[in-house]
Amino acid sequence: MAIAQTDFAAFYRRSIDERDAFWAEQARLIDWQTEPRQICDYSRPPFAQWYVGGMTNLCHNAVDRHVSERGGQPALIAISTETDSERVYSYAELHREVQRMAAVLQSLGVQQGDRVLIYMPMIAEAAFAMLACARIGAIHSVVFGGFASSSLASRIEDAAPKVIVSADAGSRSGKVVPYKPLLDEAIALSPHKPQAVLMVDRGLASAPMESGRDHDWAALREQHMDAQVPCVWVESTHPSYILYTSGTTGKPKGVQRDTGGYAVALAASMKHIFHAKAGDTYFSTSDIGWVVGHSYIVYGPLLAGMATVMYEGLPVRPDAGVWWSIVEKYKVTHMFSAPTAVRVLKKHDPEYLRKYDISSLQALWLAGEPLDEPTASWISGALDIPIIDNYWQTETGWPILTLCNGVEQQAPRFGSPGKAVYGYDIRLIDEVSGAELTEPNQKGVVAIEGPLPPGCLQTVWRDDERFVNTYWKSIPGRLIYSTFDWGIRDADGYYFILGRTDDVINVAGHRLGTREIEESISGHAGIAEVAVVGVADSLKGQVAIAFAVPRDAASVEGDAARLRLEGEVMKQVDAQLGAVARPARVLFVSALPKTRSGKVLRRALQAVAEGRDPGDLTTIEDPTALQQIKAQVG
Ligand code: ATP
Ligand code: MG
Repeated sequence: MAIAQTDFAAFYRRSIDERDAFWAEQARLIDWQTEPRQICDYSRPPFAQWYVGGMTNLCHNAVDRHVSERGGQPALIAISTETDSERVYSYAELHREVQRMAAVLQSLGVQQGDRVLIYMPMIAEAAFAMLACARIGAIHSVVFGGFASSSLASRIEDAAPKVIVSADAGSRSGKVVPYKPLLDEAIALSPHKPQAVLMVDRGLASAPMESGRDHDWAALREQHMDAQVPCVWVESTHPSYILYTSGTTGKPKGVQRDTGGYAVALAASMKHIFHAKAGDTYFSTSDIGWVVGHSYIVYGPLLAGMATVMYEGLPVRPDAGVWWSIVEKYKVTHMFSAPTAVRVLKKHDPEYLRKYDISSLQALWLAGEPLDEPTASWISGALDIPIIDNYWQTETGWPILTLCNGVEQQAPRFGSPGKAVYGYDIRLIDEVSGAELTEPNQKGVVAIEGPLPPGCLQTVWRDDERFVNTYWKSIPGRLIYSTFDWGIRDADGYYFILGRTDDVINVAGHRLGTREIEESISGHAGIAEVAVVGVADSLKGQVAIAFAVPRDAASVEGDAARLRLEGEVMKQVDAQLGAVARPARVLFVSALPKTRSGKVLRRALQAVAEGRDPGDLTTIEDPTALQQIKAQVG
């Protein structure tokens, strides 16, 4: 049952005003081997330690504790439309598989505190490996499968794993992507070498094995079929994993997460944000390589005793109804995705969304980037269930802004991801003066007063200095966590994210959020997707340049057509935001450069538009998109 709106205000206040009492209550949502002796130690800001002295285990809480009560219930539903396979693991089966994996990792020398890098496609063994690490107190570092060898190499070097778990190949749109050559190359590039590589052979690609180093999962599993590996109780503050941010704004940061705080934060979010109960089914369309995959494919749903869907495949293959066929078949109750994926669906016939019985579905949560009004309205109209925006970061591990009673919301305010979530003491700060903005509708940097709530990053892996300097020192004269996003809060407490702080452009003294301009342009019926960046201009300081993907390529064929659409778009911005926000140019392209997690690489767009080097592009999805942009501006 969702809590009523008014009660949520009190719930929120208590989380801030009676912080320790609040989080002591939430801590009861998980099992502890030893109860914590202190809820929060913030004696050394900005380093927060949650549940000091508590001993627990993430895998115990996600798997073992459910076995007696719901051993036969589905826990993991692994579906691949790439290899046409489906396999449901009950909690009892998952428990066995995780122990086998844990025993194999131990046989390869992995002990508590060792790092294990997981470079895997979306297959069940990837979840087994994550949970097995948690079981034995090893720290996992999942790297998005299919990342280029240079990106992988820098993560191998940074995390220094004892063992790497990988697979012969992933598959995307029916095309096999062999992983082993990328992995071998990455290991060759990295100064740190793993002791062992554990390979899952899916039979998709040949994977030459290096004797002495490489091991076959199936063969080792055979030797540990009856393995009983007890959970290693670890300190609450023991790191559970390292995960790198998306790299949208520069070199990815290695987010280090604790154990107890994370378990409590996720268990609490399943209850108070998702209103999930044991036996429900959660389908997150993300990838285990991203934070959403960690929190809401693997750990969150399992902590709550739900079944979780792990899906390898595209949203539009074999057709644009595939997600909804999964919802129908497995009676999915909770779904989590990203606006970028919805925009992919939007290009297809909405009839696909009506073909299946999706009456089990309670709501769809979307996160990762601004949810523009046209996308939100489209999916909301097509599905007829609540669409719930939520805003957070790899760093925080769980939502900062959303509507905790979103399932019951009467009138969604599209464009706002909602209000401050319990635990987050959010402040809006004037970037220049560092002063706090307390009036409604003032624009400022979204910042969080320390300590960050449980589940947020402890530090940057092996780089406390970077943690402090990057996140806590950007606002003059005060130690406060910056999200580097820019936003406003209205009189009712709803926030609006206007873009990243480095996306703010300054046109002849007017400060504009690129997001606002994008929102206006994407409202034009002829535009499928758009990114706006500020480009240096000798006269105005900066001007806005829009890169737009037309809905129909033919609509911009020929100079006359192109100029007409450009003119229409400019007129729309004039009418909605004023001429000052009008982009100097609207350039039409067939695709925008994005990170592998689907985010527009605005900094690369801006650099190219200014004729500069686009910088670190290791996380780019499709380099040709950037070449096209180069050709356009050049
Ligand atoms: P990096 O930090 O390496 O530059 P990144 O910030 O893209 O990469 P993530 O942690 O994946 O890495 O993304 C978090 C960011 O995504 C937020 O700071 C915000 O800019 C954006 N974001 C996430 N959810 C939303 C949302 N619902 N609305 C608006 N923006 C969002
Ligand atoms: Mg970021």
